[in-house]
Order: sequence, then structure tokens, then C-alpha cells
Amino acid sequence: MESQKKHPRTFSFEFFPPKTPEGMEKLRATWKQLAQLKPRFFSCTYGAGGSTRDRTLETVLEIQAAGHRAAPHISCIGATRADIAATLELYKSKGIGHIVALRGDLPSGAASAGEVRYASDLVALIRERNHFHIEVACYPEFHPQARSPREDLASFKRKIEAGADAAITQYFYNIDSYFRFVDDCEALGIDLPIVPGIMPIGNFSQLARFSDNCGAEIPRWLRLKMQSLGDDVASIRSLGLDVVTELCDRLLSAGAPGLHFYTMNQAGLTSTIWQRLDL
Ligand code: FAD
Repeated sequence: MESQKKHPRTFSFEFFPPKTPEGMEKLRATWKQLAQLKPRFFSCTYGAGGSTRDRTLETVLEIQAAGHRAAPHISCIGATRADIAATLELYKSKGIGHIVALRGDLPSGAASAGEVRYASDLVALIRERNHFHIEVACYPEFHPQARSPREDLASFKRKIEAGADAAITQYFYNIDSYFRFVDDCEALGIDLPIVPGIMPIGNFSQLARFSDNCGAEIPRWLRLKMQSLGDDVASIRSLGLDVVTELCDRLLSAGAPGLHFYTMNQAGLTSTIWQRLDL
């Protein structure tokens, strides 16, 4: 963990772009509440193939107009180089200087991965402009499509060599996976900030389904305890808050360079964890 301790702590909150005016209204209340915690930045996800480009931009611009730093995500799968260049120019013209660069996942039935196959290629395209602060994703429990842990680490290193400035992890509940991952990165000479991605636990059954697909393991003890609570929403929430607060506390105590919260557009769980951590 030594390489991580030298970085200043960065706290950030992630949203997804709402589909409806009501969703946008709800998100407005959420970001306004979370802005009081003074995160370094907010970020907003980007649907595969650019399906949410306008809504991602709208969300980011609204937050930016209120004086906060906001980073749009951008994904490359299924896109042409010209699409990506146009999106980058658009972001630049709106005064956006911070971006989260992802490969994205091909929607089922989609024919082709497009011209830019991996996030490392996307980072190289963004870096050509020399304008953006670039965040990339990494996976302490390894990406589900990786051929091996070693190859996944090599892919991560390629993104850094292409010009990434910082990384945000997939969420995890096994804290040792983060420590081991950081140590493996250190051994490869990777020393950029690797900020843990934190998923507060609200709806457990939804989280369990989602986790199976995205390379995040729910430990057996946690799964069984949560399942034993059935539909008792208050107890699920309470256990989730205890577990995730302790995870964050241990990460920060060990020297993690901040936390990135997957807020799911809700302020409640994230701000309760924040208060309990006394940040
Ligand atoms: P990559 O780094 O390209 O890696 C993808 C896979 O390819 C890995 O298995 C890697 O090992 C392998 N690989 C990479 N390079 C090579 C190579 N040269 N040869 C062979 N194999 C290679 N998705 C969205 O659609 N929109 C979002 O806004 C979004 N935001 C996210 C934010 C965070 C913080 C995280 C952790 C994930 C996010 N995702 C988002 C999900 C992400 O798009 C998926 O996890 C996707 O499957 C991988 O994206 P990546 O950028 O990590 O891909």
C-alpha cells in the first residue's frame, strides 16, 4: 500500500443519467445534498454506444454550472473514432476537463465492437488532445472477461501507459482483494492513485444479481446474512451500512487515496456512511 499513501485523498460521487424529468428532479435533490460534503468531483455514467450521451452531458453541465467539478464517463465499444472525437470536442467546448474512460459492454445482439476495442485505445485517443484529466477502471477481483489475473493487470498497465491519471476500482466487499491488487500493481511499477469504488447496499437482491455479471464477489457470509433477512428492508439497510462503513474505514486507515461512491442516484446511504466515517 506504500505507493497509495503519498496521494492526497480524493472523494467522488457517481450518478447515472436519469431517463425522465422526474428522475432528473430527484437527481438534482441528490447532488445538491451530496455537494454539501464537498467531494473533489461528481461523475455521470455513459450508456453503451453513446445511448445516453446527451443526458450524460446535460447532467454534468447542470452540476458544473453550480460551480462543482463534474466528469462525464465515455465508453468506446461500438463507436467509431469519429464518434469519439466528436464527443471529446463537445465536452471540451463545454469547459469539461475531467473524464472517466471506459470500454463499456456490447449490448446483447450488437454486431461489432467498433473501431476502438479496448479502454487503453480510448485513453490514447483522449490523451492525443492533451486536455483532460483521465480516470480509468480497474478490478481488484479481476474483470470477468480477463484471460488471467496477470493479463488483466497487464491491460490495466496499458491504460496507464496510454495516459491515464488515476483509477477507480470496481466495487468489492473482500477488502484483501484491494490490498493484494494494489501490491501487485506496485510490483509492476504502477503508482497512480487507485481509488476504491464503494457500493452502498440498499436493495440486496438487485446487487447480488448485478455483482455476478460485473466481477464483484459478494462474500458467502454477507450473502447468507442478507438472505436470512428476507424482505426486512430496515435490517438489510442497517447491516449494509455497518458492513460498508467498516470497509471504508479500514481502507482509509490503511492509506487508500480516497473513496468513489456508486450512489445509484440516492443521497441517503452515501451521506450516512460519510457521517459515520466523520469525514
Ligand atoms: P478494458 O480496460 O478495455 O478491459 C476490458 C477487458 O479486456 C478486460 O478483461 C481486460 O483484461 C481485457 N483487455 C484489455 N486490453 C486488452 C488487450 N489489448 N488484449 C486483450 N485483452 C484486453 N460501463 C459503461 O458502459 N458506462 C460507464 O459509464 C461505466 N462506468 C464505469 C465506471 C467504473 C469506475 C467501473 C469500474 C466500470 C464502469 N463501467 C461502465 C463498466 C465497464 O465498461 C465494464 O466493466 C467493461 O466490461 C470494461 O471496461 P474497461 O474500461 O475496464 O475495459
